[in-house]
Amino acid sequence: MRIISSVQEMHDVSNELRSHGKAIGFVPTMGYLHEGHAALIEQAATQNDSVIVSVFVNPLQFAAHEDFGIYPKNFDGDCALIEQSGGNILFYPSVHEMYSPGFSTSISIGTITEKFEGTFRPKHFEGVATIVAKLLLCTKPHHTYFGQKDYQQTMVIKRLIQDLHIDCTMHIVDTIRESDGLAKSSRNVYLSSDERKQSCILFKALSEAFQAYHKGIRQRERLNTIMQEVLNESSDFKVQYAATADAYSLDEPDEFEKIGKVVFLIAGYLGNARLIDNMIAE
Ligand code: AMP
Repeated sequence: MRIISSVQEMHDVSNELRSHGKAIGFVPTMGYLHEGHAALIEQAATQNDSVIVSVFVNPLQFAAHEDFGIYPKNFDGDCALIEQSGGNILFYPSVHEMYSPGFSTSISIGTITEKFEGTFRPKHFEGVATIVAKLLLCTKPHHTYFGQKDYQQTMVIKRLIQDLHIDCTMHIVDTIRESDGLAKSSRNVYLSSDERKQSCILFKALSEAFQAYHKGIRQRERLNTIMQEVLNESSDFKVQYAATADAYSLDEPDEFEKIGKVVFLIAGYLGNARLIDNMIAE
């Protein structure tokens, strides 16, 4: 696997691949990779000639009180997982390389960033949109891959690609879960063994709301209460939001249409771990 840490070299390699008519797939990550990331890389490998994976913990998307300084790392493990999953290029720039002195540009997406994650992480999506735009400009992919696990993020990136006319197709890959339903996440390493046992509560709450929706319940408050009641079974989970929204607009009408697509969204803290998950029903 080729490891690239300079922006100029990344430009040169991507230009070279494109000049030879090679399809480029790109998977942006923050490292400490697991089977969720592997699913993205594997899908990219089936659809492209070359798969670039970036590992970059982006300071712009973390607030001062968040875990930027302690975000878990495993460089050797990441390289092995990328290779096993079909990636052939690792883009691994330093913070200094991505944000050289004087850097002052940022991308703000608008209304879809204001609720849910945006309420609790006000500058987060500005940081995400800015780094993803920069990474897409460096790697010049034909296809890029994101996880449904970060549902609102997929909406933000979709908007970014459309609004900035970025010539790249975005693919959304299903959430990969542990056997008890917990969505795989690099941050699960922060859970104590007792918290790990309680952490399946998110999947349980989402599943119950999903079943209720399929039985015909369309009132938003009833669906949210179903999730909240399940989450209350864990005394330690501190809910930030447990919400039901239109899956296309994130609007929250009192009652959803008989036919449509909704997303159930949950986020909160279990000890030091911030957990986030979602499920779509239609
Ligand atoms: P991260 O390294 O957490 O920034 O995630 C990098 C990409 O992997 C994002 O598009 C995530 O949505 C995706 N991802 C993270 N966890 C999972 C998972 N359990 N299943 C599928 N995709 C995931």
